[in-house]
Amino acid sequence: MFCKIARHEIASQIVYEDDQVVAFRDVNPVAPVHILVIPKKHVPAVTALDDKDKELIGHIVLVIKKLAQETSVVEDGFRVVVNAGKHAGQRVPHLHFHLLGGKAMGWPPG
Ligand code: AMP
Repeated sequence: MFCKIARHEIASQIVYEDDQVVAFRDVNPVAPVHILVIPKKHVPAVTALDDKDKELIGHIVLVIKKLAQETSVVEDGFRVVVNAGKHAGQRVPHLHFHLLGGKAMGWPPG
């Protein structure tokens, strides 16, 4: 389904896009700022990455930094989450980084 978002085949609130990644607002936000950053190429989960993806992952982290600055969550802090597999509650089998901010968040997760 996230491949369809990347190809603009289903509607989403895209906040950033380039040749490698798309970032869009989570449809069910759990924080005032909740953005998902995905690679355009299909990667099912973080466990499917390999050495050739190093540049892509570095790029995604820098995009997250830019979005954190643009959404003004840097000063108060923010969280970056990648869920992988059943125990983490990964529901969408396309690698995605959650950028969460705009409120204080508890730790550790429940
Ligand atoms: P995860 O549990 O880590 O797999 O997170 C999947 C996230 O994708 C959830 O936070 C959902 O709310 C979000 N989501 C699912 N479908 C869409 C969609 N069409 N547009 C935006 N966010 C979505």
